[in-house]
Amino acid sequence: MTARLLRRLLHTVFPMHCRTCDHALDDDPIPFFCQRCWNHITPILSPSCPRCAYPFPSPHALSHSPEHVCGSCRKHPPAYHRAWTPYAYQSPLKEAIGLVKYRGKTQLAPALARLIAQTTPAPTNVDAMIAVPLHPDRLREREFNQALLLAYHLGKHWHLPVLTDVLRRTKPTPPQTSLTRRERLRNLRKCFVVASPVAVEGKTLLLVDDVFTTGTTVNECAKALRKAGAQAVYVQTLARMVAHGH
Ligand SMILES: [Zn+2]
Ligand SMILES: [Zn+2]
Repeated sequence: MTARLLRRLLHTVFPMHCRTCDHALDDDPIPFFCQRCWNHITPILSPSCPRCAYPFPSPHALSHSPEHVCGSCRKHPPAYHRAWTPYAYQSPLKEAIGLVKYRGKTQLAPALARLIAQTTPAPTNVDAMIAVPLHPDRLREREFNQALLLAYHLGKHWHLPVLTDVLRRTKPTPPQTSLTRRERLRNLRKCFVVASPVAVEGKTLLLVDDVFTTGTTVNECAKALRKAGAQAVYVQTLARMVAHGH
């Protein structure tokens, strides 16, 4: 094999340019991104709803009443106890999540889990983690569940077990973003079932997903888990859509 061919082959296996700025990558520790771009992923610092983690527009929103919940949570209290969504779903994190989800670049998953572990302390009262499931058709197509991958790597940081094959998705769902709240609810109603209630009974669970979009998906999962006997459900996602919903 010629050196040129070898280089081209290596280039295919290990992309040599940052996906955000196109800067040549040498020994940057994060796959596909230079350290400079990766450092742009900074946590949401504004005060947020203590239930759904929706960031309030005003920096003083919680100064008088720290437990002030957002209008949406007041109107429709979620089935989960509380959610943590440390980052905004925007570049370059958006590209990184997309690379894992749609391009199968699963080697990025440890770096994504580390982003959560860096900002969020290990939950103290949680018995186990559980990932938002994919429908079996989608799983067959993608060959992995990105939420489960994230949960698995997060579990290593937090020393928490991950329950697998307990929560199942029975219906494929279209993307939720373009739908109204009522349509989203109709789509997801009875979409999740708990295959082995004994695994969740009396447990405090941390539900994991990659992106918190409108919160309908995690809420429906939490409902199913609570109905099956889970004592409490917390939600951890990596990123959230900031300009949607509410
Ligand atoms: Zn870069
Ligand atoms: Zn809220």
